[in-house]
Amino acid sequence: MKPRATTTWLSGPVLRAATEGSFLMREAVVVGEQRLLGEVIRVARDEITVQVYEDTSGLRPGDPVVGSGRLLSIRLGPGILGRIFDGLLRPIGVADGDLDAAWVRPGMREAPLGRFLFTPKVSVGERVAPGGIVGDVAPADGAPDDDAEGASARRLHQRCLVPPDAKAGEVVQLADAGVVAEDVPVCTLRTDDGGEYDIALSHRWPVRLPRPVAKRLPADEPMLTGQRILDCLFPIARGGTASIPGGFGTGKTVLLETVAKWCDADVIVYVGCGERGNELAGLLAEFLELTDPRTGRPLLERTVVIANTSNMPVAAREASIYTGITVAEYFRDQGLDVALMADSTSRWAEALREVSGRLGELPGEGGYPAYLSSRLADFYERAARVQTLAGEKGSVSIMGAVSPPSGDFSEPVTNHTRRYVGCLWALDVRRAQARFYPAIHPLTSYSDSAQGLARWWHAAGCTRWETLRRRFLTLLEDEARLERMARIIGRDAMPSRQRLTLLCAQLINQAFLRQSAFSDIDRYATPQRQAVMMRLIGGFIDAGDKLLGQGIPPERLNDAPIFRALMRMGEEIPDGEWERFSQLDRELAATVRRLEEEEVRSA
Ligand code: ADP
Ligand code: MG
Repeated sequence: MKPRATTTWLSGPVLRAATEGSFLMREAVVVGEQRLLGEVIRVARDEITVQVYEDTSGLRPGDPVVGSGRLLSIRLGPGILGRIFDGLLRPIGVADGDLDAAWVRPGMREAPLGRFLFTPKVSVGERVAPGGIVGDVAPADGAPDDDAEGASARRLHQRCLVPPDAKAGEVVQLADAGVVAEDVPVCTLRTDDGGEYDIALSHRWPVRLPRPVAKRLPADEPMLTGQRILDCLFPIARGGTASIPGGFGTGKTVLLETVAKWCDADVIVYVGCGERGNELAGLLAEFLELTDPRTGRPLLERTVVIANTSNMPVAAREASIYTGITVAEYFRDQGLDVALMADSTSRWAEALREVSGRLGELPGEGGYPAYLSSRLADFYERAARVQTLAGEKGSVSIMGAVSPPSGDFSEPVTNHTRRYVGCLWALDVRRAQARFYPAIHPLTSYSDSAQGLARWWHAAGCTRWETLRRRFLTLLEDEARLERMARIIGRDAMPSRQRLTLLCAQLINQAFLRQSAFSDIDRYATPQRQAVMMRLIGGFIDAGDKLLGQGIPPERLNDAPIFRALMRMGEEIPDGEWERFSQLDRELAATVRRLEEEEVRSA
């Protein structure tokens, strides 16, 4: 018997109901004649409090609430890749690319079930543990694995897993390789107590419950973003976390989208949370058009978009973060590297605040509930690089935008988030106003992973990565200090050592950190190209030092053609044209020789 309750009080997305029978905390319920989806968020003796994930304008006191007997959960299966959902993983139709007009039909609960090619990886009689691999899953569109371009061979292959919360058992029945619907049993396990249960390609999982792993692994591999300021100065590790605080228009969305397009994750989960619908629609259109450099297929095929735009019900926005991370963990458990982008966590926190207000909870700082901080911690702590229950490696990395009102970084969401993330990519209004993109401020940003990743760069052939990184950061710090002095006494009045510092910092900023998301050549940089550029700039700094030692002022280097060539290399020299970079190397050496000779002659 499902527990039932009768609505007694309503306020926006929140209602209270008098119960007959007992409900679980976090139980999924349906409300009213329209069968709206809700979740129990508080249980008292004869009363439950429910938050409703759909438009509640038609509800009245007296409307029935019916329990489901299970926690609010989503169905995870191969068919969710390449689709767009609301905050509870219900598919949304997008008419004419207009997300503001997109809506979940009331009562539409789940994604339609797709059909996939299942290939068993176990045999009858074999024992499989929770989270173990039952078989491979591939798209059922009939494309052979080894077609002419070999592209489909590189298509993402998914796995059919024993649900992590199921019992271990022995395979007693197994489907042959073939195309099946996501909910059709492909394998039957007999557990030690003699019970049997079926496994399909998809399974359900409660969104608020982290999926189990065998163990957490150290974060010693970078999640490459192709953005120099990130990969070289403030790198994020696989399984790491980053917060992107920034005022309106400073480039949070463009940065998240750029990372989504170019980062080296297998699967992208993009949570559009309370932002404008047309922005997300633009992202979808772009992802459809963009081909994934690794598979040659549309990028959207390995992306899951979870959209709760500003016009959608506010409670579903609160859930969307958990839905997103659960989807990410599901792919991680298949041995994949997943990147989750959330834009914006501030809008999520506002949803939390609104629901809390309706509940009459005591407001804390900024009107947010006291549990804001622990909710943020719960979310970011689900990022990790792990050994999966199946013994493979997988990861979830999280990047979340924060939109502090009027750009004030001391407000609660920015502040609390800072405590739980490994990287801070702080966007700076003044850089953005100067159209210096990405507008990440090098002095207010940080990464706690740089030391752990130095070894990776070393192994990749960039042996001076850590040294150059520190050198760049020190020069940028010195620059900030000297800039103030330059404004007061004028640049020309400064000693040549300080003028050299300013020149080198200018090169680092303009030639290395600045990178347009809209330049075909420069929107993405491979680690090889980043390393070469880093080395060249390091060479310039060394050359400046050497010349200075001989009394040659930095302006001589500034005037040399090599300086302008270095300033333009990002925009002009594409990946792979290593000879052109070597040419710059030789030009720099020749310039130093020429300036030294001129100095000797004039002496
Ligand atoms: P936010 O999400 O912080 O409000 P957006 O990401 O929408 O800001 O960026 C605002 C505008 O700034 C963009 O429309 C674009 O013109 C410019 N912009 C931001 N980042 C970049 C970038 N990396 N390269 C070039 N232009 C950028
Ligand atoms: Mg934005």
